[in-house]
Amino acid sequence: MADSIEFPDPCLVVLVGPSGSGKSTWALQHFRPEQVVSSDRLRAIVGEDERDQLASSDAFELLELIVKRRLHRRLTTVIDTVGLDDERRRGYREAAASAGLPAFVVAFDTPGDVCRARNRERRRPIPERVLNGQIRRFGQIRPRLAEEGWEGVLAPATVALAAAPFRQAAAALTRQQSRPIGLRFGLSVSTFGWGRESTRTELVRLAGIAEGVGFDSLWLMDHLIQIPQVGPEWADLLESYTTLGYLAACTERVTLGALVTAVTFRNVGHLAKIVTTLDVLSGGRAWCGLGAAWWAREHQAYGFTFPPPRERLDILEDALQVLPLLWGPGSKSFAGRVLNLPDTLCYPRPLQDRVPILVGGQGELRTLRLAARYADACNLFGDAERVAAKRAVLHRHCAAVGRDPASIEVTHLSPVLVGENVSHVDALVASLRPRSESSERFRARTKAGTVDQQVGRLRLLAEAGVQHAIVSLPNLTDESALPTFGKVITAFR
Ligand code: GDP
Ligand code: MG
Repeated sequence: MADSIEFPDPCLVVLVGPSGSGKSTWALQHFRPEQVVSSDRLRAIVGEDERDQLASSDAFELLELIVKRRLHRRLTTVIDTVGLDDERRRGYREAAASAGLPAFVVAFDTPGDVCRARNRERRRPIPERVLNGQIRRFGQIRPRLAEEGWEGVLAPATVALAAAPFRQAAAALTRQQSRPIGLRFGLSVSTFGWGRESTRTELVRLAGIAEGVGFDSLWLMDHLIQIPQVGPEWADLLESYTTLGYLAACTERVTLGALVTAVTFRNVGHLAKIVTTLDVLSGGRAWCGLGAAWWAREHQAYGFTFPPPRERLDILEDALQVLPLLWGPGSKSFAGRVLNLPDTLCYPRPLQDRVPILVGGQGELRTLRLAARYADACNLFGDAERVAAKRAVLHRHCAAVGRDPASIEVTHLSPVLVGENVSHVDALVASLRPRSESSERFRARTKAGTVDQQVGRLRLLAEAGVQHAIVSLPNLTDESALPTFGKVITAFR
């Protein structure tokens, strides 16, 4: 794998080489047939057959149109022609540039004698005179390709198409295989697509499988209407803490929490009561996820007030201070920025000495400062680079208040669409993608990839400091979703 080429997906790949140098074979080994636009195939469509020279100009007219339209849709495209015409190559490069996509040349330096021998073997060889002309021409332009302005001029080696979430993931996978590092895993149950009669039993089954495949934690979104990032507003969505109470009864090992509780939805004293109840009934497995809330729509719909951001963060800060008082012994009074509790009396006390608090959100000025000051975990999102940057901010806030950053667990939330292999991923994308969303966008949004790609991506996140990866699976209600993700978990054990 050392010299494998990682093409960004989407991109344009232009093949250059004489007939018989192995272009079509290589293209079909590494790309899907729909991604390969071949002048030979188009000659056979507008003309008699692949060798119909009279159909050449029609074939190229179509080829240019197809390439332009595909690039415009940001679809990875491979141009399979001899690629020896300077003007045409320039046109392809410009088409890619105007679509904002990188363009690569793959040059086939197959010796002329090999091309000639392969040509003679063909059922219908091209005239030797024509082939010799191509070989000569290739020799002339080959040294010039490097100066034409391509993103890269590459030799045909093993390629791996890497969509944005999986850049550098192949090398990271190798690192994980040779020197594994550990990672905890959480499952965010964010869809309930079983139909409401089956929800009760399917949820128990799901929780059992999640524990069985090695998840460490289960999380519920604290929303009242399904959020647009996940599904339509009429999709079933259960209330978080009622569901967590139910899960407490039907699981044994996993920790349980809301990711994250909106401080605007419950009186904070009441929240302390709810979380302590969850902790006692789950045998000490409760987490308290807390956040400043963000979605005005559901507040309006359910009659909650939705104060401006600053005030929501004030409530959050008060909650972070008062919840441990409510869970602790005695009943001190608390006067915060907005909350006033003359009595912080809440019995039973939780089973855990301290119910861990996770602060959701990665606002650098205030949210991460609150996490540094009060929380046992933060919750980040985005790629490894972004995580590293946010973690650095958290550490600065820790330094400012004299907190040991190692005492704050870094959790990360992302959707993950995982398939056993490339064709399984393609099938999942085809069946789940909303018609109005391009497959590129859908793949990027759901981080659609194989088990190996996910292991590589998560390794990169772990190297950036993530300790607990919480995932939501867009195909959660599929039989195979959790067992397939279990293979990712295994790679981190
Ligand atoms: P193109 O004209 O450049 O598209 O070349 P093709 O891909 O059609 O290949 C020409 C012939 O060479 C076919 O019979 C292929 O099976 C054969 N061929 C292509 N690549 C290789 C290779 O890497 N090794 C061997 N041994 N044969 C190859
Ligand atoms: Mg060919």
